[in-house]
Amino acid sequence: MKVLKFGGTSVANPENINKVKSILKSQKNHSMAVVVSAFGGVTDLLLNASKRASEQDVSYKNFVKEIEDRHIAAIRELIPVKSQSAALSKVKSDLNVLETLLEGAFLIGELTPKLSDKIVSYGELFSSFIISEFLKSEGLDAIFKDSRQLIITDNNFGKATVDFKLTNANCENFFSKNKHGITLLPGFVASSKNGDLTTLGRGGSDYTAAIIAAATNADILEIWTDVSGMYTANPKLVKQAKCVASISYQEAMELSHFGAKVLYPPTIQPVLGKAIPIAIKNTFDPENPGTLISQNNNGNGKTVRGISHVGNISLLSLEGPGMIGIPGISKRFFETLSVKNISIVLITQASSEHSICVGIADDDADLAAEAVNETFEYEIASKRIKPVMVEKDLTIVALVGDNMKSHQGLSGKMFSTLGKNNVNIRAIAQGASERNISAVIKKEDVKKALNSLHETFFEENIKQLNLFVMGVGNVGAKFLEQIRQQKKYLKEELKLNVRVIGISNSKKMVFDENGISLKDWKNALDQGVRTDMEGFFEKVRSLNFRNSIFVDNTASADVSKSYANYLKNSISVVTCNKIASSSDFANYKALKQLAKEYNAPYLFETNVGAGLPIIDTLKHLIASGDKVRKIQAVLSGSLNFVFNTFNDSITFHDVVKQAQDQGYTEPDPTIDLSGVDVMRKILILARESGHQLEIDDIENDAFLPEESLETNSNEAFFECLKKYESDFQKMYKQAKDADCKLKYVAQFEDGNAKVGLQQIPKGHDFYNLEGSDNIVLFYTDRYVEQPLIIKGAGAGADVTASGIFADVVRIGNF
Ligand code: ADP
Ligand code: ASP
Ligand code: MG
Repeated sequence: MKVLKFGGTSVANPENINKVKSILKSQKNHSMAVVVSAFGGVTDLLLNASKRASEQDVSYKNFVKEIEDRHIAAIRELIPVKSQSAALSKVKSDLNVLETLLEGAFLIGELTPKLSDKIVSYGELFSSFIISEFLKSEGLDAIFKDSRQLIITDNNFGKATVDFKLTNANCENFFSKNKHGITLLPGFVASSKNGDLTTLGRGGSDYTAAIIAAATNADILEIWTDVSGMYTANPKLVKQAKCVASISYQEAMELSHFGAKVLYPPTIQPVLGKAIPIAIKNTFDPENPGTLISQNNNGNGKTVRGISHVGNISLLSLEGPGMIGIPGISKRFFETLSVKNISIVLITQASSEHSICVGIADDDADLAAEAVNETFEYEIASKRIKPVMVEKDLTIVALVGDNMKSHQGLSGKMFSTLGKNNVNIRAIAQGASERNISAVIKKEDVKKALNSLHETFFEENIKQLNLFVMGVGNVGAKFLEQIRQQKKYLKEELKLNVRVIGISNSKKMVFDENGISLKDWKNALDQGVRTDMEGFFEKVRSLNFRNSIFVDNTASADVSKSYANYLKNSISVVTCNKIASSSDFANYKALKQLAKEYNAPYLFETNVGAGLPIIDTLKHLIASGDKVRKIQAVLSGSLNFVFNTFNDSITFHDVVKQAQDQGYTEPDPTIDLSGVDVMRKILILARESGHQLEIDDIENDAFLPEESLETNSNEAFFECLKKYESDFQKMYKQAKDADCKLKYVAQFEDGNAKVGLQQIPKGHDFYNLEGSDNIVLFYTDRYVEQPLIIKGAGAGADVTASGIFADVVRIGNF
């Protein structure tokens, strides 16, 4: 014999019930016990109706109406007209009884567990009756059998305990005589020894099927549901979750105990003893092999087989000096919980014996706290133990796998993954069987925790990076374009799945949790909401995605002030905006410190030399123990362009204008021409070389007339340049006469930095610097005579964007 169970979604409506019929018809040469759940959602409707009725809220009748409509409609659709009236009158008369029961709860204003069970049982009683009538009408050899006559329990209403001796005898007796091909039974319901109706707990239809399978020594137990098996994590929360083809009983039990709802935890127990395999199959994809749960399934050497989570958990902690070395404290603690019938999901004990901490259901927390405080009343009064502490709304996340015990480093990997993603761990426990490692975390972090753990343990090292991009002007737009072009390469070659989740310019911002299409981000942004920097940050924070990166492509001081907030939430920052790194040393240092503390890189390679790997090289020199003695550099692509283009046949004004038009200058060109931009860059290099310098410490030998620097608009500045044309021409001529070129040079030596225009003679490394190129010479302990030279285009949207890109990839490899 074979036992099949169809869950709520599988029998939610006539269309699905027809699928069930097809599955049953395709099972050749088998006698079958078929257990069904209530139509999907009906159990909740019944429980809600009972609750409202007991609160004397007449709206319970709306639920009853919905229940009635669904079942009557199902009969009309599934059962042929000639046998419809009998089915309708049976269900209608049952509905009358149901209404009377609810009315009773309404009138008394009370709902006993016993009455609740009576009411909720109608879900399965209706569905099994209707489906059996339907199958008969379709010519299948089916009969209905009421599980209440087979499964006998104690009278712990709501979640009764099965008396296997009586139950097994009943089942053997019935099935040995039964000659029908299909026996249809309601799941979930049972009866107590004295004949009261009981239920097996939420999700209990799985258990009904397992009990029957074990009692009849079935060949297999098939659980038909709405997913194609047991997955590496709940597929509704982790998109990348994969079906596990085969798994051991113990692993499946751990996974379900820790929340894999696809299997009700007690289900495995009855079949385990008889080694009856369980198949998890999808009613909506019957050909899919699904998952096979059986004995001796070693998972082909795989360690972690699945990740589960249970929500609505409270931590209950008892601590105090009076606990040390005193025997019996734990016993009294656990006894108290046991007397109150409170189940413990997780236990941790500090090795100091100074505290006991358990995880229990939120619903039990108040009762538990009260009971424990009462038990330890005397110790609490004498201050030897503190009143019990309760922390609610937590979730347990568990890694499960039989082979975990023989592998080191799994818990390290688990906790560092959570740590890197700023998931705070409240408690940890490892099962004595070493088949699971669990962490208690905050509810808000669950999705992030599951996804990042899944990535670590199951996704062949594909790492998802979630980008939030502020500023989509020249540089930002190029950056998005580069990501679009390289997306496939990044995934295949670098195992990075880069997604852009948020984009903002100064007017609008837009978010898409599934990733914004980079083909048409401009449209999406147009349809976004008004930009609000605070709101942008809040959104990034509340999305709480793993590996989040904030990318600043603006030159805004306000934006640069938000970095600390991002870093404090373990959100990495990549920026081409120099303001933060060249602000007060204290601020620069604080940001670096936050980056370290929160495991979130703060990278700004493009602050110096656009896409040239200058800062990264410097970092590597220092990491390898080298010391920077001197830096000499031409660091302004814009000034280099200006002095390479300027001569006696063009005005200085026109050259600067051209530089601005080609995107070689900051939006405000005085920042470049005054030398401030170069000062910021050499300051950043000096700091990255380990020196504590402020911008005011840098000597600036400015070449622009002071009047031009005092202008307060770009127009006025350009006008002023015209006025001083003859001075500029004089500078040019002097250099030319000396056979030199004008270069704006930055220098750092012996802790001092200066910037200024210099006449560079032929033969000097700087002399042949073309267009907007930059060059940096590092003289170090190792590069003494011949400096380490980095040279190349130092400005322009494309190269800057590629520098930002490189920083993002660095974080991906972090
Ligand atoms: P049924 O009504 O068929 O009994 P359930 O809703 O009780 O179905 O269980 C199936 C659901 O279990 C899936 O839709 C899925 O959301 C959830 N689930 C949680 N964890 C897992 C997991 N690891 N693998 C598969 N499904 C899971
Ligand atoms: N109908 C019950 C519930 O929803 C039992 C089950 O479907 O397994 O909990
Ligand atoms: Mg279920």
